[in-house]
Amino acid sequence: MVKDTKFYTTLGVSPNATEQEMKSAYKKGALRYHPDKNKDNPDAAEKFKELSHAYEILSDPQKREIYDQYGEEGLEGGAGGPGGGMAAEDLFAHFFGGGGGGGGPFGNMFGGGMREQGPKKARTIAHVHKVSLEDVYKGKVSKLALQKSVICPKCDGRGGKEGAVKKCAGCDGRGMKTMMRQMGPMVQRFQTVCNDCQGEGETMRDRDRCKQCNGKKTIIERKVLHVHVDKGVRSGTKIEFRGEGDQMPGVEPGDVVFEIEQKPHSRFQRKEDDLFYHAEVDLLTALAGGYIHIEHLDERWLTVEIIPGEIISPGKLKCIPGQGMPSYRHHDFGNLYIQFDVRFPERLGGPDGAPLSSEQIAALESVLPPRKSDNKPPADAMTEDFTLEDVDPTREDSRSRGMTDEDDDDMHGGGERVQCASQ
Ligand SMILES: [Zn+2]
Ligand SMILES: [Zn+2]
Repeated sequence: MVKDTKFYTTLGVSPNATEQEMKSAYKKGALRYHPDKNKDNPDAAEKFKELSHAYEILSDPQKREIYDQYGEEGLEGGAGGPGGGMAAEDLFAHFFGGGGGGGGPFGNMFGGGMREQGPKKARTIAHVHKVSLEDVYKGKVSKLALQKSVICPKCDGRGGKEGAVKKCAGCDGRGMKTMMRQMGPMVQRFQTVCNDCQGEGETMRDRDRCKQCNGKKTIIERKVLHVHVDKGVRSGTKIEFRGEGDQMPGVEPGDVVFEIEQKPHSRFQRKEDDLFYHAEVDLLTALAGGYIHIEHLDERWLTVEIIPGEIISPGKLKCIPGQGMPSYRHHDFGNLYIQFDVRFPERLGGPDGAPLSSEQIAALESVLPPRKSDNKPPADAMTEDFTLEDVDPTREDSRSRGMTDEDDDDMHGGGERVQCASQ
């Protein structure tokens, strides 16, 4: 089932049209609506553009698959979007064999023969292969199964007994018939799908039909492909299996393409070969030292010492060289960057909830820098004394007094600009 049939309608074909059907539909429409032929019909130019765009998408097996699955939105931003891709005239020229020689596309077309675009090929099967960061770190081989059409082995793609397939007499093998219809004084000619062969162009007696493929010439087969997820592979890397896609009689087999997409990770963010980790330490560790433990992407845990007096301030970025991702097809590693948050205590003092003693305050004063004493009022100023009260952040009015937590964001981000100094 296709999501959207607009392009098919524009082209005048059904959503299961073959490449050949679309090609002839495009040729017919392009000749009819080409601006050179419709100098006094401005609508034709628009129609010509739409037609060309529809054909450009549908004639590209990969784009067609995206379109069938996700509709026009799926193509936005990609090469298939309205801004990108080939201009209508270019496509036309490409199709009808050049157009540079001054005679215009029509001159060329009527002068020379039509050019084919190389051997015909079955459509590409494209698949996004999502992998975890662990798998990218360690590398792995994914076994992926796909269903594909293969030439029926029983009838070798003939659809029936040798010689049983006959060219349809009703349509002379074209699959379409020209019919006449009387419309008042006029006779109208129109094309219709041949009902003797249902548009196949071939007929066969039922008893000659191949039992395995039921005359369809191909059967569906399950195929397992081994996709190598190399260490350090980046999102967007494409792994191609040439000729492993669908088979159809008389055309080159299609390709299968896997695109690697790395899933987001709960602990690490990856930026190229570097990893970023967020660590929260308590104030005591930040000031007086301690350890943090990081579970890495293999089975290792890293124990990281914070040296007493190193001073971890909120937002500080530090790094461990060589503990990032393996770099793709090189034998080294990126860095592990650790961004720190410092959790301040709820309260200080004795375990029984007693406030700080004067000895404890003196101890803090002996190791911390002295209090700042700037912005003092002048000696003759009138002053009033206050203490602070707590604010309940769940209460509506705390916000209306201009208390927002926008500042939180300033603690994070921006870290990528910093280089690892010790590498
Ligand atoms: Zn068969
Ligand atoms: Zn027929």
